Amino acid sequence: MPLRFKPPPPPAAGPTLVVLPGRVPQFGGGTIRRVLPHPKRRLIGAWCFADHFGPTPSGGPTGGVGPHPHIGLQTVTWLISGQTRHRDSLGTNQLIRAGEVNWMTAGHGICHAEDGENSSGDVVHGVQLWVALPEHARHGPPQFEHHTPPTGLVDGAVATVIAGTFAGLHIPATVHSPLVGVDLVLTDGRAHTLPLDPTFEHGLMVLSGAATVEDCKVSPGSLLDLGRRRSSLNIRGEDGARVMLLGGAPLDEPVAMWWNFVFRTADEAAEAARGWNAHSPRFGTVEGSPSPWIGAPDFPA
Ligand code: MN
Repeated sequence: MPLRFKPPPPPAAGPTLVVLPGRVPQFGGGTIRRVLPHPKRRLIGAWCFADHFGPTPSGGPTGGVGPHPHIGLQTVTWLISGQTRHRDSLGTNQLIRAGEVNWMTAGHGICHAEDGENSSGDVVHGVQLWVALPEHARHGPPQFEHHTPPTGLVDGAVATVIAGTFAGLHIPATVHSPLVGVDLVLTDGRAHTLPLDPTFEHGLMVLSGAATVEDCKVSPGSLLDLGRRRSSLNIRGEDGARVMLLGGAPLDEPVAMWWNFVFRTADEAAEAARGWNAHSPRFGTVEGSPSPWIGAPDFPA
């Protein structure tokens, strides 16, 4: 992932409707579509990274990501189908099943491994999101939470809240800036009117089928940038549409990202990379992952 020190153009003050095509980074396993960060949209609230993986039939129990570090962020892993074993340097060993969400807070430093635990032919489908920690939280201790998120019917859509509060549904996952994340299963051919917090900025990624907002149709692989100051969203789905709504209070901080780190200065990132490669106690160790340890690449000069 490239360094991002230059701020992107300032976001529009009001509502927008812009489709931002994502990227398809190459990994060993199935398809991944990366819709955040985007050159034209680095953050939605504090959401700074969004990968959508699958749906892909598993080739069996392998296909994991071995021990690697994080700083300055939270990872949010939401599974629609399949299962993943999470292990981290806090000693956590947690299976995430479909319909469950993991929240891992890196703070000053953590390391973890994520290993698929699927039978051959099981379909793996989900998202991994990162939340940039604000200054007051990014130097804090690491933490891990596992949640079964609340689900309800919101104007005919099945809403599952994986971050914050939406339409009265609340998940008690710890957040450090106002944030919302909602998985929505839409009903084919019907319009849904969904409530939004007008103090937030919002974006939408499509996980299956297609969704239309006003005259704008979106499919998996792109981010629909909704801008700011919307108090509701009118959306229609087709082909069994499932979408992920992301929003939050604008994070007015000079967030930079490189590799698995979210930080403010190049020195911080270089120091974290050196520390990880030297097995610094800052990051601890992960026990039991069958996947190989992942070293940090050279920090760009
Ligand atoms: Mn990770």
